[in-house]
Amino acid sequence: MNKRWTIDKIREFVEKNSDSTLLSTEYHGFSQKLLFKCSCGNNFEKTFTKFNKNNQRKCDVCQPPRESREAK
Ligand SMILES: [Zn+2]
Repeated sequence: MNKRWTIDKIREFVEKNSDSTLLSTEYHGFSQKLLFKCSCGNNFEKTFTKFNKNNQRKCDVCQPPRESREAK
């Protein structure tokens, strides 16, 4: 069964599972980019899917995007 995320649940998840803060106040679906505030003070945008499934829970400065090393 699919878990249905709401902006409140996402905010709670972000607070519990990362050092970042959710700034967006609306959630329209998994393809929407949400605005986060990193613990370093930078704001960054990411889809919740990436934040959640890909463990991208910080801004690009604290957690630089990596070239896919697994791809062959
Ligand atoms: Zn940062």
